[in-house]
Amino acid sequence: MSERTLVLVKPDGVKRGLVGEVISRIERKGLRLAAMDLRMVERSVAEEHYAEHKDKPFYGDLLDFITSGPVVAIAVEGPRAVTAFRQLAGGTDPVEKATPGTIRGDFALETQYNLVHGSDSPESAERELKLWFPDL
Ligand code: GDP
Ligand code: MG
Repeated sequence: MSERTLVLVKPDGVKRGLVGEVISRIERKGLRLAAMDLRMVERSVAEEHYAEHKDKPFYGDLLDFITSGPVVAIAVEGPRAVTAFRQLAGGTDPVEKATPGTIRGDFALETQYNLVHGSDSPESAERELKLWFPDL
């Protein structure tokens, strides 16, 4: 029973040289990389990716941030991959919610700059993977 999820190493993670760290944690967990690349994000893709947040006060900042530099997009595969990666990432607020031992808990301090994205449900994963990896 395998599942896929979309993982992004956001611009802060790429700039800080944490791509290898994130990939290493994914692989050590036993998840597989099904597709991966480094890319700049089109504004339209960012808008669609974060559409659920379009009415939030931080939406504009979020779009500016995610389009500010290259991201590494990864299609990750394995049993319960969606939940497995969310657990590896830790909570959205890297200080209040993410615990030490998680990616955000170990390496981030600010909610906006929380290093990684992971799909929050199998339905979100399907939608996001179509957007980021249409040929997968
Ligand atoms: P995630 O699923 O854990 O990434 O969190 P959400 O889907 O709720 O939010 C998407 C992204 O928006 C987060 O990963 C943060 O980068 C950013 N974000 C969420 N909440 C806030 C906030 O209150 N302020 C700011 N500046 N950014 C936020
Ligand atoms: Mg989310």
